Amino acid sequence: MLNAFKQAQENKYAIGAFNVSNLEQLKAIIQAIQKLKSPVIIATSQGESKFIGKKQIRALVDVYKKETGLPIFLHLDHGKSLEVIQEAIDAGYDSIQFDGSELSFEENIEMTKKVVDLAKNKGIENIEGELGYLQGKSSLQEAVEIEEEDLTDPNQAEEFIEKTGVTSLAVAIGNIHGIFKSGQNPHLFLDRLKEINNKAGDKVFLVLHGASGIPEEDIKKAVELGIDKINVNTRLRLAYTETLKKFLQDNPEQTTPYKIMPLVVEAVQRVVEEKIKLFNSDNKL
Ligand SMILES: [Zn+2]
Repeated sequence: MLNAFKQAQENKYAIGAFNVSNLEQLKAIIQAIQKLKSPVIIATSQGESKFIGKKQIRALVDVYKKETGLPIFLHLDHGKSLEVIQEAIDAGYDSIQFDGSELSFEENIEMTKKVVDLAKNKGIENIEGELGYLQGKSSLQEAVEIEEEDLTDPNQAEEFIEKTGVTSLAVAIGNIHGIFKSGQNPHLFLDRLKEINNKAGDKVFLVLHGASGIPEEDIKKAVELGIDKINVNTRLRLAYTETLKKFLQDNPEQTTPYKIMPLVVEAVQRVVEEKIKLFNSDNKL
């Protein structure tokens, strides 16, 4: 997995990490990467992995890996307890995130280091830490103010990486989880990203969460400035639920799931394809 990141870093593209909690979402992502020849990360949050089952999603991803021959990695998104991380390791996840961003800087270092030691011992290649405060949930929401003090501090980032041994770092540079109801989210603090990349870009792979609402030109610049992995969730959830609602309104008599879901899969696939092109990871295999 780290080799895939290295290739992304060297060739100035980012690998998309798309969240799933069911087969339809997974199917949409796989169809998109087959068409566009892109590497991909399938991500499940704590809630999503609890719903679909960690062993179950591992088995599904394995089936698709075998069938397509494409590099597909399974990642635990925002693991917040050692227990959940242990479950993901036991289920055979390729990659995990420990999110200690709500802890103090010192506690975050201490807990992340514990997770790194645990996961490395079990042969997990990629361990992502998080530094800086990210607002919002992966849904439509009211606008929030981004405070400069919540952004990732470049010096702290360097210290965090050295003391914890993480291989990836999620940064807060004006990104939030979710999309503002008013439309587009605020611009990224790209100067801050440049500073972080200068301090830490050669020691770690940089991750951008909350890409659903970020202006497209900012995403492109962020990739040029060293972002290697980009997480997208809300935009896929919206495509899924809006298409499903409309289909059921238009076809109230329809009760056959495999006749209801194809349009939903198609809508999610379209979003994944757009994002892959935006991240410049298409035609890389
Ligand atoms: Zn996130």
